Amino acid sequence: MKLHEYQSKRLFAQYGVPIPRGDVATTPDEARDIAARLGGRVVIKSQVLVGGRGKAGGIRLAKDPNEAGRVAGQILGMNIKGLTVKKVLVDEAADIATEIYLGIVIDRSKRRPVVMASSEGGVEIEEVARTKPERIVKIAIDPFLGLQQYQGRELAFGIGLPKDLSRDFCKIAEGLYNAFVGCDASLAEINPLVVTGAGKLLAVDGKILLDDNALFRHFELAEMRDADEETPEEQEARRHGLSYVKLDGEIGCMVNGAGLAMATMDITKLYGGAPANFLDIGGGAQADKVAAALRIILSDPNVKAVLFNIFGGITRCDEVAKGILDALHEVPTTVPMVARLVGTNEEEGRALLASANMITAATLAEAAQKAVRAARATEGSPGPSYSAAQSAAAPAERREL
Ligand code: GDP
Ligand code: MN
Repeated sequence: MKLHEYQSKRLFAQYGVPIPRGDVATTPDEARDIAARLGGRVVIKSQVLVGGRGKAGGIRLAKDPNEAGRVAGQILGMNIKGLTVKKVLVDEAADIATEIYLGIVIDRSKRRPVVMASSEGGVEIEEVARTKPERIVKIAIDPFLGLQQYQGRELAFGIGLPKDLSRDFCKIAEGLYNAFVGCDASLAEINPLVVTGAGKLLAVDGKILLDDNALFRHFELAEMRDADEETPEEQEARRHGLSYVKLDGEIGCMVNGAGLAMATMDITKLYGGAPANFLDIGGGAQADKVAAALRIILSDPNVKAVLFNIFGGITRCDEVAKGILDALHEVPTTVPMVARLVGTNEEEGRALLASANMITAATLAEAAQKAVRAARATEGSPGPSYSAAQSAAAPAERREL
């Protein structure tokens, strides 16, 4: 789960990281009032859960409250990378001398959090990572010892920070590390951490990614979720406990198990198709969950064929088949469907699906090829109609085992 900039910065502040004064507005009037309270120049910052807001025109300075209201009016409602701006953060404008990058992520190969710092922070950090990786200093942290003071100093030295800022920098790095651990984050980042004209360090931007698997022990963080930032499909997937990621392809995939889902996507690509989504219904899914998953897949207009790849262990194939039929009952569709069900109760599952006039396959390779073929055939033509109501009477001639 991603947190907004204003949420991330407030959390950082609780861990002793200096941030600009500011507040959140949802209307131009509110933005003007906040600017009046702050006095002086302000920066109006769109709060959307994507990076690169600055480059997209979603971050602008204003010299007085009236201009703040006007600028907020222009930024609110803006579309940034597909997301509509509904909130802006109005912060005291920082007088920026230099921009530093400071971030922490989990390095899976090292099995440790890694703190990264660069003197070339700001909106071009991705470019720096690509073209001048040596300008990013990295230090792996022993999770039992935490970030040690000498490591903070090593980072400060590594990015050539003026000596007199080293102590404050170490405190900020420590605060960021404690925030990272305290929130069970998978990423905590300040970009830029600026040196102001007056020679002080200030966290001007903030980003936190929370580990969803740890949210159960952070109610206060879980409550920060911004439902506006999720598509209706993502919301429904979360409600039903489905792991769902939308992609750009044309083959909707419903799979049980993340590894199997990845393999299904790979093999779909191998045979010339492109997955429309990653979707893991998890182990032991009941019919209602399967039906929700299929509804989500079918709501994507790009989907030209659906591929079910179910390995029945704890999950029962007949239960999955029932879910598919239930969903087809609710949302009849002409999108062709290919099913590969293997394992517990596969016979019963296949029999149910065959009665629904569905293409079946014995192996994943065969299923993927059939799905790709079916998707190509659908493009343009309406294809056969699948609905549970009519399928009972339909012949099972498409059944190819
Ligand atoms: P991002 O583009 O989504 O990463 O948003 P940031 O908050 O990092 O802002 C992008 C850039 O806008 C920063 O790197 C700064 O150069 C600039 N910026 C942000 N806040 C201020 C501010 O208060 N004063 C000034 N002068 N520039 C700012
Ligand atoms: Mn930034």
